[in-house]
This record gives sequence, C-alpha cells and structure tokens, in this order.
Amino acid sequence: MCKNCDLKPVIKLSSGVSLCKNCFIDYFERKTRKTISKFKMISKGDRIAVGLSGGKDSTAVLYIIASIAKRHDTIKVMAISIDEGIKGYRDETLKDAKAMCKKLGITHKVYSYKKELGYTLDQMVKKLDMNPCTLCGVFRRYLLNKYSRKLKVTKLVTGHNLDDESQSVIMNQFRSNVDASARLGPVTGIVADYRFIRRIKPFYLLLEKEIMLYAFLKKFPFSSQECPYAHSAYRSEVRDMLNDFEQRHLGVKNNIINSFLAVLPLLKEHYKAKSKRIKSCKCGEPSSESVCKACQLIKELKD
Ligand code: SF4
Ligand code: ZN
Ligand code: ZN
Repeated sequence: MCKNCDLKPVIKLSSGVSLCKNCFIDYFERKTRKTISKFKMISKGDRIAVGLSGGKDSTAVLYIIASIAKRHDTIKVMAISIDEGIKGYRDETLKDAKAMCKKLGITHKVYSYKKELGYTLDQMVKKLDMNPCTLCGVFRRYLLNKYSRKLKVTKLVTGHNLDDESQSVIMNQFRSNVDASARLGPVTGIVADYRFIRRIKPFYLLLEKEIMLYAFLKKFPFSSQECPYAHSAYRSEVRDMLNDFEQRHLGVKNNIINSFLAVLPLLKEHYKAKSKRIKSCKCGEPSSESVCKACQLIKELKD
C-alpha cells in the first residue's frame, strides 16, 4: 500500500517506500524542485533553454521548468532541438517535441546537422570511422552552445538523470578520463566562462524508471523509440551492468552519485587552472585547443 494514503502503489522507490499515482507525482515534482534549489540551478532573471529531444526525459523536464517559469515572471523558457539527421528516428521524436511545445505554448527552435554542418549524422558515420555517439555528442554540444549563446540563454537544461550520470562516472573510471568527470555534476563545467552556457540537470537525483513512470502517468507525447546507433555504444554495456547490479543491490546508482558528489568539488578545483587557458576557435566557440573539436571533425569530413 502507498506509504502516505493506503491507495494501490504504482512504484517502489529504491528507499523501499511504495507510492500511489498522486503521491508519486507529488514526490517526483518536489524532488526535482529540491534538486534545483539544492544545487542553485536557477536564479532570478534566467533565460532558460531546454534541450528537447522528444524523449521522456527532456519532455518531462520541459514540463516542470515551464511550470516553474509560470510562477516566476522573471524566468523565461524556450526549447531547442537538434536534428542530427538519423533516418526513421529523429524525424519521429521531433514530432513529439513539436507537439509538447505547442501544448505548453513554448518557443521551439530546431537546428539540423545537415543545414548547419553540411552533413547528416547518417552521412558522417559513413565517412568517418568513429563511434557514432562520440561524433553525435561533439556536434550536439557545439550547436547547443553556439545557439544558446546567440539566443542570449543563461542556462541550458538537459534531461540527464541519475542513470545517465552514474553511467558517465563509471565509464570515465573505466577509461581513466578523470578530467571528463570533473566537467560532470548537476551544474556542468569547471569555471564560469561567458562562452560556455552552463548546463543544469534538474533530474540529477531521479532514476530513469521514475521519469518513465512520471511521463507515462502525465500522458506526455513522447517517443520511446531507440536510436539505431545506441546499441553500438560502450555506454549500453555499462548501463546493463549497472541495471543488473541495482537489481541485486538496491541503491547502487544512488551510492555512485553520492560518492561522486563528495569528491566533485576537489576534482573541479584540481582542473581549474587548466580550464583558465580556454581559447576561442575561429568559429567563435570556446576550445582547449586553437581549433575546436567540431571544426577539426568538419575538416576531416570535407577531406
Ligand atoms: Fe546520438 Fe548516440 Fe544518442 Fe543516437 S544514441 S542520438 S548517435 S548520442
Ligand atoms: Zn498515496
Ligand atoms: Zn571551431
């Protein structure tokens, strides 16, 4: 039975507590708002863009951010979608993204790889011998940062959840990418730099299954279709491993994030000096090298 009201439960949380539909929705929204305030994600006067893919996470986070903005006059919200050009997949999820923005009355901007970079992701993976997700991630971050800056956005919201973050932490450990871990966290980045739009993750402490249930109970239009390139990712192996562990040892993902949060300030401090040497690429985007990763890849695509 539900811990609060004795109704039929819809979920058992990793704390062992069972909740009914309404109590779960209430728990979910309160936990998101608490995460936002705990990590000081949003301030007065913020102009927020939600990176909207049309999947459950970004759709749900857009809904919650829009409801917060409704209650605070000084906070503005819009949505930005990136069309990577993945045939039979992104075209479908973008329809849901459009429908959600229309429902909420939110301005929606769409930027495509084809138009902005000259190639769709499908064309890129045929030309370059690289992991599709690595390629995709470089260009998505590039376009989101570039257009957020142009649109005078002060915070970029992503739908990343506890599952995503715990996978990233473990992947960085397995690959010895300590500096990549330093850039993670509920508010990304190491030093404040006007060229980098800060990314915030209001679902940082929520599990993927909780977001799935919330989006389902709220009847959001969202696609659960999987990207055709996802299966090839190293990430999916780590995801399966963590899911298996979580099933046998409830709370493992939470424990990974809690231990990570305990050392994150030290990691950020350690990498601060290096981050101060950020240069500007000729395209205008910040980079640790004189030519940014996106420009390097575009050159390789053209060669
Ligand atoms: Fe891009 Fe990989 Fe995500 Fe597909 S699964 S959208 S290729 S990052
Ligand atoms: Zn209840
Ligand atoms: Zn560049």
